[in-house]
Amino acid sequence: MLHASPYYSTRTQSLEMLRFRPLNSTFIRPFSSLHYSSLPITIPFVGSGSTSRGTATRFYPSVMASLSTVSTQNEVVSSHDESTQKISQPPLQVAKRLEKFKTTIFTQMSMLAIKHGAINLGQGFPNFDGPEFVKEAAIQAIKDGKNQYARGYGVPDLNLAVAARFEKDTGLVVDPEKEVTVTSGCTEAIAATMLGLINPGDEVILFAPFYDSYEATLSMAGAKIKCVTLRPPKFSVPLDELKSIISKNTRAILINTPHNPTGKMFTREELNVIASLCIENDVLVITDEVYDKLAFEMDHISMASLPGMYERTVTLNSLGKTFSLTGWKIGWAIAAPHLSWGVRQAHSFLTFATSTPMQYAAATALRAPESYYKELKKDYMAKKAILVEGLKAAGFVVYPSSGTYFIIVDHTPFGLENDVAFCEYLIKEVGVVAIPTSVFYLNPEDGKNLVRFTFCKDEGTLKSAVDRMKEKLTKK
Ligand code: GLN
Repeated sequence: MLHASPYYSTRTQSLEMLRFRPLNSTFIRPFSSLHYSSLPITIPFVGSGSTSRGTATRFYPSVMASLSTVSTQNEVVSSHDESTQKISQPPLQVAKRLEKFKTTIFTQMSMLAIKHGAINLGQGFPNFDGPEFVKEAAIQAIKDGKNQYARGYGVPDLNLAVAARFEKDTGLVVDPEKEVTVTSGCTEAIAATMLGLINPGDEVILFAPFYDSYEATLSMAGAKIKCVTLRPPKFSVPLDELKSIISKNTRAILINTPHNPTGKMFTREELNVIASLCIENDVLVITDEVYDKLAFEMDHISMASLPGMYERTVTLNSLGKTFSLTGWKIGWAIAAPHLSWGVRQAHSFLTFATSTPMQYAAATALRAPESYYKELKKDYMAKKAILVEGLKAAGFVVYPSSGTYFIIVDHTPFGLENDVAFCEYLIKEVGVVAIPTSVFYLNPEDGKNLVRFTFCKDEGTLKSAVDRMKEKLTKK
């Protein structure tokens, strides 16, 4: 069963989005800055009044060119769709700090999955439901009247449960009242951390490929991004490169382990070197560990647990991946009080508080017996085996993934020029959606050979996708 959220599937939504189509949008980076694959095209727009007739020359890559009638706010309308070209609207407006960004790749690809009836191994959301006991807890909380604003930094019960879980995982004892901040998903925790702790002009180090919201929220905070690229096959941290980039001017380094999109897990050796560089240069660590319970090939290590690191580390996590409830958007940040203060200041004015009944249910979830976590891992290992074996059998070069529910492959055996072209071919000719990875790099060229598949789907879906690929993909 494909997940068909009404958000993506209604025609009304598509038309609604078209109303915000730019009239003159040369500044917008569509589908990332895929210079190597982009075609310059000219699209006439017909608007109302004397000033709104315009021509927008823009670059956009072939996947959106040939697949576009699913509309996103920064996508051009397909040339054969006359009716939509006649909608007159003022040009899109966006603050400079966000103008280079686009509709997220996950949204784009999920929309294309629905439009083309393709199996969605792109966006990382389970197509199966979260556990009954957690859903029951949410229903009960609603019935019990836990329906007004929550305390800004989290309902006491959830702060306690997060602290208890963190202690079990890392051995660190934290104060649930002063060191845990509950947010609307990890994405908000990321934003609150950036906005609460980073000043305009501060240097922040990212490892590419990186999750898209890191760059966007750093841009909102006005940070200067420095990038270190992790390269296949092992995506190891090039420690010498890191040493040459980190300095007293570095405010923070952002790590993500297990790592989206590669599945790489930071080794103890890598974390030790990063930690000593951070201590030496007085650098903060922001660590996104939302896939910590999906660690298959090695044990997850939290940066905060390394000697001398807790005081300079903000640890981010969430409920979504561990409990297959990505739509609940319950996340949290754990940090010493002096760092939690900044995170909380930003959080207070971003969302103030997050959904009250879901927080109560999240507390119940986090108290799940260890058997729940074991079972989750076992289920995911079976899914992973289906996808990995299938991708190999279909002819991909499959890179090792130690954690997360993602697999990175090299698509070049099939002869397509880059990741976007390959994903286009895969959707249209094979009926499977993957994520082109070039969007996760500052330099998109670095990701042009790689695409990401997810295995957070039921086994039947994974097998069908694999069958389609084995049957229809042909090596060039
Ligand atoms: N984390 C999910 C992924 O990597 C996407 C979440 C989103 O769409 N923002 O696929």
